[in-house]
Amino acid sequence: MKITVENGIMKVPDNPTIPYILGDGIGVDITPVALKVFDAAVEKAYGGKRKVEWMKILAGKEAIEKTGEPLPKETIDTIREYVVAIKGPLTTPVGGGYRSLNVTMRQALDLFVCFRPVSYLKGVPSPMKHPELLDVVVFRENTEDVYAGIEWPYDSAEAAELRNFLKNKLNVNLREDSGIGIKPISIFGSRRIGKAAIDYAIKYGRKSVTVVHKGNIMKYTEGLFKNVIYQLAEEEYRDKVITEEEVKEKYNGKVPEGKIVLKNRITDAMFQQLLLRPSEYDVIVTPNLNGDYLSDACAAQVGGLGMAPGGNINFNTHIALFEATHGSAPKHAGKNEVNPSSIILSGAEMFEYIGWSKVKKIITEAIEKTIQEKYVTYDLARQMDGATKVSTSAFGDRVIKNMEIK
Ligand code: NAD
Repeated sequence: MKITVENGIMKVPDNPTIPYILGDGIGVDITPVALKVFDAAVEKAYGGKRKVEWMKILAGKEAIEKTGEPLPKETIDTIREYVVAIKGPLTTPVGGGYRSLNVTMRQALDLFVCFRPVSYLKGVPSPMKHPELLDVVVFRENTEDVYAGIEWPYDSAEAAELRNFLKNKLNVNLREDSGIGIKPISIFGSRRIGKAAIDYAIKYGRKSVTVVHKGNIMKYTEGLFKNVIYQLAEEEYRDKVITEEEVKEKYNGKVPEGKIVLKNRITDAMFQQLLLRPSEYDVIVTPNLNGDYLSDACAAQVGGLGMAPGGNINFNTHIALFEATHGSAPKHAGKNEVNPSSIILSGAEMFEYIGWSKVKKIITEAIEKTIQEKYVTYDLARQMDGATKVSTSAFGDRVIKNMEIK
């Protein structure tokens, strides 16, 4: 049965059909293992009362082979129709070829939030002394910024026309061999992601929301992003959100009970802050490019990309596409050796999103237990003393074996 949205509320049947994209490269290794883990966790949580019916949809290499197109329209339509889906990684050709399928899907479905929770699982090797101090959820804007795909090669007619326009109309001189990309950031886009981040912080009892921006330099784009979210908090969340400045000035530095603190940080400073003072941050909301860098840097602190979950979500229509956050790692493809934790943990977030919280808990705890047993894939094994290096599928089977109901 389909997951539906009625009057703005998501309705999830006990046997939902969830579409999945296998993914390119290591997708063939991680995605089937993940589905097996999901089925086992749902069974463990609800003992046959609930069960997901997985529906394969095509994108990437497999789609080209079968339909001639990397992203058939049917794939987008199916995700829209079934509301929630999950995907393996998709290869993007660099400097030519077709456009990133990930970016195309995010835009076609208007999945305006790239949702990246980052927290530490016990036993995972980390370069940090105290990786457990990092527990953040990054809300990266997904549809605007230099990622919107509005760009032209230096030698195109469009770039020449734009250079002329800038020179003649706005008195801006660009070098004749400049490629051009445009960075749009709107009030609409900033406000809706600000709202999604603050609503999430309220729902999950998080302590703060930090807007990360480079508004000191890019005043009318990133500066706008920050100002819009502050204005939103002032207009719509006066009773729940307080700014960091107010905490200092009016409350002597002590946050009043039950209030969420709204902060802002300049991007470069934030990279330092997350290394030096990770416990001061909680929900983070940021434009597209900052968020891309920041979420991977956060993931590195707690075990790297092989461990990081994520999803692309429109919190208004509820359409969501959860995904492995790493790429297709072609050199490892088909070798049954990579870490499937990213897509498995993304699935755990997907279950949380549809309200099956028990499944997330079972999966997360089973992965943590497996890692603490040092029964891990090569990427973690090489960073641990005394680890047993296992295949992707053996790791998945051990996660299933380690599932417990609490
Ligand atoms: P990548 O994430 O595919 O791989 C970089 C390295 O990270 C790999 O060589 C491997 O050593 C390691 N790695 C990645 N996933 C791992 C896992 N699950 N377990 C263990 N080790 C893992 O990044 P890349 O090489 O820059 O990109 C390859 C392709 O993937 C490109 O075409 C890129 O555009 C695409 N990509 C897709 C997504 C996505 O689908 N969301 C994200 C990033 C990159």
